[in-house]
Order: sequence, then C-alpha cells, then structure tokens
Amino acid sequence: MSELHGQWFDGRASRPQSVRLACPSPGTLQLLTADGARHEWPVSEIELNARLGSTPRLLRRPGHGHVECPDSPLLDAWLPGRSSRVEDLADWFERRRAAIVAAAAATVVATVAFVQFGLPATARFAAERMPRTVEVHASSQVVELLERTEFAPSRLSAERRERLHKRFRALVAGEPRAPELTLSFVDAPAMGPNAFALPDGRIFMTDELVALAESDEEVLAVLAHEAGHHVHHHGMRQALESSGVFVLAGLLLGDASGSSLAVSIPATLLSNGFSRGHEREADAYAFALLDRRGLSPRSFATVMGRLAKASPAGSDEVIGYLSTHPPTPERIAAAESAARRRAAKD
Ligand SMILES: [Zn+2]
Repeated sequence: MSELHGQWFDGRASRPQSVRLACPSPGTLQLLTADGARHEWPVSEIELNARLGSTPRLLRRPGHGHVECPDSPLLDAWLPGRSSRVEDLADWFERRRAAIVAAAAATVVATVAFVQFGLPATARFAAERMPRTVEVHASSQVVELLERTEFAPSRLSAERRERLHKRFRALVAGEPRAPELTLSFVDAPAMGPNAFALPDGRIFMTDELVALAESDEEVLAVLAHEAGHHVHHHGMRQALESSGVFVLAGLLLGDASGSSLAVSIPATLLSNGFSRGHEREADAYAFALLDRRGLSPRSFATVMGRLAKASPAGSDEVIGYLSTHPPTPERIAAAESAARRRAAKD
C-alpha cells in the first residue's frame, strides 16, 4: 500500500505529530499516528492547497487542523479534481526550466516590441488627441527659456522678414494644421544656423540660417520641413515617447490634466532630437509640399549641404531637438532624387 509521511497540526496541540497517510479505500483518507491511533478523514471534507513548485502540500479538514506533506502524485489519485486547469498549467510552467526561460524571453520580446512599436503608436495616438492647451503650455515654457538664454531680436530687415512671412503663408495655405503655424525670426549667435517647430506650431528660424541660405527658396525648403514636423505632431510624439510608458499610461488612464506631462515635456523637448523616422517623414512632406507649390526640392538639398558644411559632423553644441536635424548625406540624396523625379515630370 502506498503511503505518504506528513506532519499533522491538529489545531489543539502546539506541536505537530507525525502521521502516515494512506487511502485504503476511495473516499476515505487514513491518518495513522505514531502511537498507533487511526483517524479517518472523508475525502469530500478535505481541502487541498494549490500546488506551487516544490512547496509542501496542505490538506485541511475544517475542525481537525491540517496535514503538511511533500507533494506527490498520490495526492492527485486520492483527492481527484482538486487542482484547476490553471493551477495545472501554472504548475507545468513552474516545473519546466525551459518554459520559464521561454516565458522570460517572451516577456523581453513583448517589452522590446512595445517600446519599438507600441510606444510610438501610443504616443502618436495620444499626441493627435492632445489638448491644445497642453501644446501651448509646454511650448511656452521652452520659448521662455530660450528668450532668456539664446534669443535676441532679429536683425533681418523688416522688408526681408515681411517677404519671407508672406511666402511662408502662401507655402502652407490650406495645409493641415496651417492655422496653428506661426513664424518668428530671432538672432541667436550661440545656436548658429537653426530652425525648429514647437508642438503648438510656433516655428523659429535664426537670422544665422537666413544668412546661410542663398535664396528665399532655400529658407522655404527648411520651413516646409518644419511644417512637416507640425503636421505629423512630431514634437509632442517625441516628447511623449521619451517621457515614456508611465506618462502615457497616466494620460490614457485619465490623468487628463496631464500634470506629469506638463512638467516633463519642456525638458524632453530640449534634450531629445527627432528620430530618423520623424526626419524622413518631415522631409517627405516637405518635398511633396514644395512640389505642389511649384518649387523644386533641390533647394532643400542645397541648403542642407550648406548646413552640413557650417556644422561639421560631431560638433553637437546645439541641444538635441533644437538642432536643425542632422543634414545627413542620405537626406540630401533623398532631396536630390525628389528633385530629379520632379524635373522628369515636367
Ligand atoms: Zn527636422
């Protein structure tokens, strides 16, 4: 006859007593104590705790305390139907190292996938629904900081500014989110040739960039790119992605005030550049917009080339987001090929 050895805590004595467990006939569990006493427990009254790795099993009978014994297949035979499918599955996992490793790997893969795809997608979803007040508030904080530290009034002639403003309005007229776009020229010697769009649609361009450009068309090409960032909500998306899962979760779960967000956005705006994907998206938008306005994307390639020369690789003195988005050879090549496609059409 198969037996199990256990310790019986009967609920009366403070010390357990050793018992042998057996099940001579179905429906009754027998407890044999060291002094030869025999106790019969009806199986229907016994509760069995869930199996958890190699921890001892507890057989509890109300009013009679409990017996603690090592886990054994005998218990399943004596007390059938006590473990649920979920328990069995959990137990199966717990017992299999490979399954544990696989589960850990799956968790890592899911996390990476979320950061890679889920986070950007969630950030986009949230950015596209961001209350205007949050965009304006976050952008204002950035502007306040820059006005204190970097910006001086533009020294461009009123006539030049006027003309560029007019051409900018004509460029973006009728475009998505165009009413939110504003353009300001500032003198910012420490920043050098630069332009950027804030999440509320304010675009800043430094006098230094206007001076670097050799035509209005080159200025407009950069502005078209900045408008692309705004159309695609890149500023807010980038800020949300970098502030991460917790802020997003807060937003989605009802922290609609965005209190955590209001604090983190300006900081993330200043410290993070756009991703390559965002730059490509803004470039593609710019090429298409220039094309629709009868302007060649070639001017984008030429101004980018000049920017690349003006800020040699590695000189990253300009804070992330505010850099005019690395003028890489690939981006210049993309502009040139867009220009060639356009020329071929004509
Ligand atoms: Zn950019």
